[in-house]
Amino acid sequence: MIARSLAAGVMAVFLAASAQAREPAAETFVHAGRVLADPATGRVETARTIVVANGKIVRIDAGYTDAPGARVIDLKDKFVLPGLIDSHVHLTSELGPNSVLNEVTQSNADMALTGAMNARKTVEAGFTTVADLGAASESIFALRGAIARGVIPGPRIVASGGAITPSGGHGDVHGFREDVMHALAVETTCNGADDCRRVVREQIKRGADVIKVTATGGVLSNTRAGLGQQLTDDELKAIADTAHGLGRRATAHAHGADGVNAALRAGFDSIEHGTYLDATSIRLFRERKATLVPTVLAGAWVSERAGDADSYLTPAQKEKALTAGPLMLDMLRRARAGRVTVAFGTDTGVSPHGMNAREAELWVEAGYTPMEVIRAATVGAADHLQLSGVAGALKPGMSADIIAVAGDPTQDIARLRDVHFVMARGSVAKR
Ligand SMILES: [Zn+2]
Repeated sequence: MIARSLAAGVMAVFLAASAQAREPAAETFVHAGRVLADPATGRVETARTIVVANGKIVRIDAGYTDAPGARVIDLKDKFVLPGLIDSHVHLTSELGPNSVLNEVTQSNADMALTGAMNARKTVEAGFTTVADLGAASESIFALRGAIARGVIPGPRIVASGGAITPSGGHGDVHGFREDVMHALAVETTCNGADDCRRVVREQIKRGADVIKVTATGGVLSNTRAGLGQQLTDDELKAIADTAHGLGRRATAHAHGADGVNAALRAGFDSIEHGTYLDATSIRLFRERKATLVPTVLAGAWVSERAGDADSYLTPAQKEKALTAGPLMLDMLRRARAGRVTVAFGTDTGVSPHGMNAREAELWVEAGYTPMEVIRAATVGAADHLQLSGVAGALKPGMSADIIAVAGDPTQDIARLRDVHFVMARGSVAKR
């Protein structure tokens, strides 16, 4: 009896949640002056009506159509495109003067609420899908759920929760007295292949959509450990195999070429940052059909902050920021020359939330055409996050994730800085 009433209760909650997600039920007619419905083709059409119902695109009509009593959204003087996708963010935090203190003052609940604020900034900036790669699991999984249920506005979230790291590695706690570090112990540290298999399984049990590891050192850990490989070859292989066995992709934070190449050889699906990628990395990316998420904005941002006269970065962070940051734009040039598959990602949370589109301008500086960047931030990122058919294009049956800008972003990428209209899963998030 108890089991049955519990099941009924769970079902009632589930039905209530899905009823909420279905709103608005009536059709909405979005009148688009110009529209890039499928960035894969690059074709821009004029005077189209995108018909939306139940959070999805029903059809796209030629010309401007409507129906009696239906809601019409007038974007006839705008350029309409699919909602943008950022493959690397940290919604529950933002680098700043209080970052070190926050490690000991912020509860998981505090971070979830901070994340709600940042999720709103993100969706209002035109990013209707993000991958969050490194946050206290409890806080980011709660945020992901609240947005999916329509309780609060925000982008669709693909979440890793905590990043898997060796003890003393980039994802571990550093720079406090030992008893404080013990109290802050990271649930995703592992040492040795078997222990790493355990942590992958536990992370998936907690709710991870994707497995994220810190394969090498990183800029913002408060330790002078460099940027080279930290998880060993056998640990990386155990992690990738276990993730794949449980139906998850595995992505590796990696700066040093040793860590980039070790993760690719171990079967990782993607690399975050890739700062020192070399000719071997480029060959491995192509052989293994792996994706690079370059995050050049983070590199530019931390090297600027390291140069500030009153910089809040610690000496260890500053040293690494000044070494790695300036290398990232050239890394992206090498990746493009080597025809490496790329997905748009910013590591926002390092830079302030809501300025994600600045990354696009850096890609153009590195030689990408605006259309190539838009592709990487829509269809490319959707493919990388296994969301093809859901996000990244405007086609019947796909999620109604629609944004609009003034001017033509395929000519001037900076237009993406200023998004005038956002619809996420059929709900207007900004107009
Ligand atoms: Zn990151």
